[in-house]
This record gives sequence, C-alpha cells and structure tokens, in this order.
Amino acid sequence: PSGRPASIISTGATVAGVHLSHPERVLWPEQGITKQGLAEFYAEIADWVLPHVVHRPLSLVRCPSGSEKTCFFQKHAWAGLSDTIRQIPVPGDDQPMLAIDDLAGLIALVQAGVLEIHPWGATESVPDKADRLIFDLDPGDEVEWSAVIHGALEVRERLTAMKLESFVKTTGGKGLHVVVPLVADTGWDDVKAFTKTIAESMAADSPDRYVSTMAKKIRTGRVFVDYLRNGQGATAVAAYSTRSRPGAPVATPLSWDELGPEVRGNHFNVENLDRRLQNLSGDPWAGFFEVRQSLRSEKPEKTRKR
Ligand code: ATP
Ligand code: MN
Ligand code: MN
Repeated sequence: PSGRPASIISTGATVAGVHLSHPERVLWPEQGITKQGLAEFYAEIADWVLPHVVHRPLSLVRCPSGSEKTCFFQKHAWAGLSDTIRQIPVPGDDQPMLAIDDLAGLIALVQAGVLEIHPWGATESVPDKADRLIFDLDPGDEVEWSAVIHGALEVRERLTAMKLESFVKTTGGKGLHVVVPLVADTGWDDVKAFTKTIAESMAADSPDRYVSTMAKKIRTGRVFVDYLRNGQGATAVAAYSTRSRPGAPVATPLSWDELGPEVRGNHFNVENLDRRLQNLSGDPWAGFFEVRQSLRSEKPEKTRKR
C-alpha cells in the first residue's frame, strides 16, 4: 500500500532463482502485463509448459521492449546468455542452437525478452528424427472459424484412418495446430512427404475448402493446410507459449470436444489461462506423452497384440 521505494524496484526481482532486470517493464501495454508478470505466469503454469519446451532446439521470438515494439526470431546465442540456457550442436546448422532444461531456463528466456518459444519437432538427443508432426491450419481471408475447425477435424479423421492419434491446440493467433506425437524413428524427408501427402489429398478432394501451397492468391476463402512446419529446422509455436500479439494470447491445448465457436485461435491468454487450468477436470491432452506410434507401416508398439 505505501509502495516500495524506487531503489528496490530498480534492482530487479527474482523468479525461480533467476534475476530479472527491469521487472516492471511493460510487455503487453493493453493488459499491463510486465516482465515480472510474465515470469510469474510461467512459474504458475510450469508443470504444463515445461514438458513441451525442454530438451529441444528452440527458435525464439524476442521483443526486448515489449510486444508492440521490434521483435525478431533468434535461434543462436547472444551476448550475456544465461548459464541456464544451453548451446547445442544441431544438424543443418554450423552454429549451436539453444535449449533449456527447467523453469530456471524458461525464466532466463523471459529475462532475455523472449515472448514466443518455437521448438523443433524433435528432441536434442535425436534431432534428425521427428517426435511430433504439426498440421498448421491457416485460414485465408474471409474464412469462417467453423471452416478452420472443420479442417482440423478432417486432418484428425485422416490420421485416425491410419491409426494415428492426434491432438489440437489454439495457436494464440488465427488458426489451429493439429499435433501428432511420434516415436522418433523416421527422418525428416519421410516425415515431410507424409504430411505433404495428407495436405495435398485434402486440397485435391475439397479444392473449394483447402489449399496445400503457400501461394497467397488462392488462399482467399480457403484454409491453407500448412505442412511445412515439418522438416529439419522447421518450428512451430510451443503448447503454452505466449505470443507477441495483441491481447497476450497463449497457444493452448484443447480436447477435441472443446472446439467450437467460442474458442478461437486467440481465446486463451496470460490473463485467463490460469483459471482454465485450475477448473479443468483433466489434462485436455491426456496421454500425449504416453502415445507410442510411428509412421512406419509396421507400427510395432501400437498394433502388436499380446
Ligand atoms: P496462426 O494461427 O496465426 O497462423 P502460427 O503460429 O501458426 O499462428 P504461422 O504464420 O502459421 O503462425 O507460422 C507457423 C510457424 O512457422 C510459427 O509458429 C513459427 O514457428 C514458424 N515461423 C513463421 N515465421 C517464421 C520466421 N520468420 N522465422 C522462423 N520461423 C517462423
Ligand atoms: Mn498457422
Ligand atoms: Mn503457417
């Protein structure tokens, strides 16, 4: 109530043992969310977010002066990098990428002005094989939200027909991501070809609804089934990562039956996610980390009968 002396505020704050400089710096002005607020948000939801961001090569969106000022993607070390952020060699890049192991690493990212975390679909121990696929559903102009949902459900149906279980999340932006956890036994070329085939068959079967190429021109009124998130070095925003967009949105895992008109891509955010998580009766992605499935036709662990 009497307020802390400015001299104490300016020495920073500590969250999860990590020192934050300028904890009062405002990152999302409309919501008044500060750097300390973001650090406390991640500390609060640590059990949910950490499994999706640790031990993977990371591409980071840094916005040192907040979401409304200059932001840039960064995947290599910078001057003054924290000890809790490791540098790891990866195939296809002559410079080491970055990885974290725990909450201290995540808060160190916040300290560095990171507002978005985009991991590879592979772990640092097996970087040349995918352990998750992403179908990124990108609505073109004039596309209704129901058409985005329809696209996600159609991806799911096609995967189910191949005995592959999938999960859906909001992106914090305009669309949805369908995520497929995999045993890391298939190289990136095969993984990309697999996802390309699904995207192209959706576009071939319903050319009025879907496109499978980047060309902006033909996207109006259609959903781009973006399979290009699958490839060596490709990234997608992590589940439970914030976005550097208006409203402080958070990419949020949903159960399939939660898809509907109310829950748009940017529905969940730094301010309302905590309440969602506390009121959940179970993990919307229950089983995600236990699924054992493969793109190989044999699918040994999933289909073997005992
Ligand atoms: P939306 O729902 O609004 O499409 P999104 O996260 O899916 O949100 P996209 O523009 O479709 O946004 O991009 C998909 C992914 O591609 C991003 O999550 C990001 O990981 C990656 N990406 C996009 N632009 C870049 C970039 N300039 N550098 C590196 N990666 C990028
Ligand atoms: Mn997208
Ligand atoms: Mn995309």
